[in-house]
Amino acid sequence: MHIDGACHCGDITFEAEVDPDKVAICHCKDCQALSGAAYRASVLVSSDQFRLLSGEPARYVKTTADSGSKRLQTFCPRCSSPLYGGSADDPSAPLMIRLGVVRQRDELVPKKQIWTASRQSWIDSLQSIPGTEGQ
Ligand SMILES: [Zn+2]
Ligand SMILES: [Zn+2]
Repeated sequence: MHIDGACHCGDITFEAEVDPDKVAICHCKDCQALSGAAYRASVLVSSDQFRLLSGEPARYVKTTADSGSKRLQTFCPRCSSPLYGGSADDPSAPLMIRLGVVRQRDELVPKKQIWTASRQSWIDSLQSIPGTEGQ
């Protein structure tokens, strides 16, 4: 599936070919902090199927405590939208594009959840929380 996207301010644009079955929600504490949200949804893409069209993402590298691997996070230096994650050690490793910056995100339905041990307790009752269509 062909997708394209942009950060909130529009400086950074990209396109990619993704498998719509490779969409996951991550509930880990890093994703909660790095996204500023309760969880993060991403779609996997092989690095050769991702093309940056404009802009230069800022990079943040976190060394994982248990394995020592270096995880790369990218974001827009102007508007701070998270863009994608990957391996800082291996540029040929797959990337995880953050769904919030993908234009076709409504069509990319998550197929699995990981790190559910740190999932926010209220996620299962989201439907029962009162909502309005606008603000
Ligand atoms: Zn931006
Ligand atoms: Zn995570």
